Amino acid sequence: MEDFQVLIGQMINQAFDLGVSDAKVLKASLLPVDEKFAGFCKEPPCPSYGRSKSCPPHVMGPVKFRNYLQKFLWVLVFKFDVPWDVLLSNDRRGVSRVIHETAATLEIMARESGVEQAKGFAGGSCKEAFCMEHVQCLALSPEKTCRFPNASRQSMSGLGVDFKKLSVLAGWQMDTGIPKDPIPDSTGLMAGCVLLG
Ligand code: SF4
Repeated sequence: MEDFQVLIGQMINQAFDLGVSDAKVLKASLLPVDEKFAGFCKEPPCPSYGRSKSCPPHVMGPVKFRNYLQKFLWVLVFKFDVPWDVLLSNDRRGVSRVIHETAATLEIMARESGVEQAKGFAGGSCKEAFCMEHVQCLALSPEKTCRFPNASRQSMSGLGVDFKKLSVLAGWQMDTGIPKDPIPDSTGLMAGCVLLG
């Protein structure tokens, strides 16, 4: 347990080194999951729906994810505060890439430290973040191999994670929706997480 607490501290330090605005550890059982958010991937359809191995309908979905969560005691959650003008522009892709890379790096760190079942997830689709220029997700092709195995992770939305409730739990301020006319310098957030044993 002592070693685990040391690892948690190291992971949080690493998250801040990677540029997160905040990172903390919560009980995994508290991670809020709601079917309706996975439904939003399908209707209205996200451009990545069905086009990535890490997005619906190719991921386990909210019901199975709730059961899957029971295997874990803790979840490290992190967020990046990002100006709305970036989030509402094509530059969002770059931010999404950073979220995925951060989740993947922290997951790999936990696994290399002995938490073999550690599993990272990221806000946003890896198709949009990494493979927009490619017609096909390589992991869905006969090759069945992701182009970015050490950087991309499954979409949290596709699993039904409720980011608003998660923000409340983590003590993060989050507006209720995407502003039509964002106030200059105002920020939204993008988040990721790593499930830990
Ligand atoms: S190849 Fe990997 S990164 Fe690209 S869309 Fe498929 S799962 Fe995502």
